[in-house]
Amino acid sequence: MTPPIPPETHVFFDRAGDCHIGIVGGGTAGWMSAATLKRRLGCRVTVVESSQIPSIGVGEATIPAMIDWLHNMGIDEDEFMRRTGATFKLGIRFDDWVEPQHRYWHPFGNCGGTIDGLDLVHHWNHAKQAGWIAPSVAYTDFSLQTRMCEQARGPRDQTGRCVLDNYAYHLDAGRLAVFLREIALAEGVEHRVGDVVGARCDRDGNLNEVFVENQASLVADLYIDCSGFASVLIDRAMHSGWTDWSSQLLCDRAVVCRKRPDFDSTSPLRPYTISTGMNAGWSWQIPLQENTGCGYVYSSAHIGDDDARQELSRLIGVDEDDTDFRTLGMRVGMRPNGWVGNCVAIGLSSGFIEPLESTGIFLVQRALDELVECGRAELFNARMNEVYCQTRDFVLMHYVVSRRRDTAFWRDAATVELPSSLARLLEVYQREGHVLLPDHAPTFAEANHHFILTPAGITPGRRFANCDMSQPEMREVTTEILESVVQQHHQLVAKFASHRRCLELITEP
Ligand code: FAD
Repeated sequence: MTPPIPPETHVFFDRAGDCHIGIVGGGTAGWMSAATLKRRLGCRVTVVESSQIPSIGVGEATIPAMIDWLHNMGIDEDEFMRRTGATFKLGIRFDDWVEPQHRYWHPFGNCGGTIDGLDLVHHWNHAKQAGWIAPSVAYTDFSLQTRMCEQARGPRDQTGRCVLDNYAYHLDAGRLAVFLREIALAEGVEHRVGDVVGARCDRDGNLNEVFVENQASLVADLYIDCSGFASVLIDRAMHSGWTDWSSQLLCDRAVVCRKRPDFDSTSPLRPYTISTGMNAGWSWQIPLQENTGCGYVYSSAHIGDDDARQELSRLIGVDEDDTDFRTLGMRVGMRPNGWVGNCVAIGLSSGFIEPLESTGIFLVQRALDELVECGRAELFNARMNEVYCQTRDFVLMHYVVSRRRDTAFWRDAATVELPSSLARLLEVYQREGHVLLPDHAPTFAEANHHFILTPAGITPGRRFANCDMSQPEMREVTTEILESVVQQHHQLVAKFASHRRCLELITEP
């Protein structure tokens, strides 16, 4: 065996091919890591997974980065969609979040582009304040994806050719795990079934042996902990520490189920997730090919499991006695040192933020990219801290801007102490009119922030000179541009096939 890898060594670039990577856990994170690392590094990879401990297996919605992963892995999109029961996702519709009966969209992509380098939000905002566009015209009315969601279009044209950049997938997480495992095994990943019961570290604090019940130990150079909330290596053996965010993000439990589709074969198939504000949290409804994935993420301090199950059943219109529900506990927070010695946590073992913006699978993908690119602990940890903190702030922002005070949950959510990074982002937005973004590869761009803030009436504070509506020519140009964006989208939407047709072209080629 080669000596353990000191944290500062640029392991993958120096001798990636000789390295043996041992992965504990066979959930989405474990198999995605195995397939990706085998493909990108060409080294030996072994996965040890328990046959007793179930995977979380809930992740059903993704963000556009998933397309890059498929592309980099050389996976055909049609094959992926057939195997995972996937549908297309163009955004999220938020119901009852800002207040009861309120609705807004968070579409993928930007919103109608820029005018003179300034996001359209500024022109829309000033035009609205000046009273020459109707108060009912929302910023997202200039988003192509919103229009497509409203008209149930998919990203392909009538011939099945993809003609949209920014979209993602809804998928069946159980089928995704099976698909990922097949890819990994086909790449030559070794697979062992057994329970990891402990590990031994050397004097330098590196893992040199991982004990598998009734079997030979797993001995590798680099260990990836994908054991989910159990965190058998990174926590139990490496004691890497945990930053708890439960005082900011109050939801700590979820109830999930599947609902038969309530649409017949001629009615539109939604290309978006519905997220609904509930009494003590929020629920999701995710259309899949064969059924709809549903769940309610809630705060156990504000509602019990039975009441949560009933509230979800009422919302989605299912008979409680006739539906299989699963209840899960969630630990909200992150591991500031996800890479310690020769052990790296990926997936739920490294952190969890409620799935409001569907970031779980993305965080796995991002960690793998950073692992390969950074190749050393300090940089990896710094970057992943930034990714997790931006995700936390972005998710928390949905609660912060809500005006709901109708239940104890929403009243408590409104008074949580904000992380200084989010407080500063909101302050700068309202004063300077721009969004503070992380230096390195932000997950959520400027437009994403406008999509969440503007429906709650929070608009960029500064009046930029190049959208000063008091100048008649500026007003004229802006009106023309806003109208042409709407026109263009109107024409473009007609070119996309219905979401249902897009899926037919894939599943019945
Ligand atoms: P798990 O799925 O928990 O897998 C852990 C694995 O480790 C299992 O195979 C288990 O058998 C194994 N294991 C555990 N202990 C041992 C041991 N001692 N020995 C050997 N093996 C062991 N993400 C999204 O992207 N989109 C979503 O819409 C989304 N929704 C979610 C909803 C909820 C309610 C939750 C909780 C999560 C959601 N996620 C979502 C996150 C997503 O589910 C996870 O990020 C993803 O599944 C990765 O999980 P994992 O593989 O890290 O952990």
